[in-house]
Amino acid sequence: MDGVIQISKINDFIFCPHSIFLHGVYESFHENLYHEAPQKMGRSAHEKIDTGQYSSAKRYLQGTSVYVSKYNLVGKIDVYDTKEHLLIERKHKLHRLYNGQRYQLYAQYLGLVEAGYTVNKLCIHSLSDNKRYPIDIPGAEELDEFEKVIDAIRSYSVNTTYQTVTKAKCENCIYRQLCHKSLC
Ligand code: SF4
Repeated sequence: MDGVIQISKINDFIFCPHSIFLHGVYESFHENLYHEAPQKMGRSAHEKIDTGQYSSAKRYLQGTSVYVSKYNLVGKIDVYDTKEHLLIERKHKLHRLYNGQRYQLYAQYLGLVEAGYTVNKLCIHSLSDNKRYPIDIPGAEELDEFEKVIDAIRSYSVNTTYQTVTKAKCENCIYRQLCHKSLC
């Protein structure tokens, strides 16, 4: 994949590399074709952020666009608390933290820092149970790990990349009925 990578695709890629290919194919179709209830609820949470409904307090930056020049990544943050120097990514419901969510937050963090903001803390906020999951600011080791993921996204090929997906993942995938690689 050449050119700009959307930050939101990093988590999708970790879930299944083929899903970002399918996203590119189907994104021009109406979402009812493939989105299911959890995705719609998650999206609704993000729409509140995009339209500035997280809080009216001026201390919060919401839905701000960021760019990471080193990796050519573009995307939006969810919420940045300028008082706490805290970057927050909101999810509708979180049962556990996944690496893809951590990498996505790293990308947002790098973009905010590049834009000149100070970020001292990261967290993912699970809305349904109001729980916060803190994530450490990435050091050299975590950034090296992150860079390998970006390299893997850039070198992904539908025909040649080894498929690591499991049946359980396919059963929870919004593309399962449209995907020729689905295991279910
Ligand atoms: S159905 Fe399975 S192989 Fe296809 S995109 Fe989803 S998780 Fe990946």
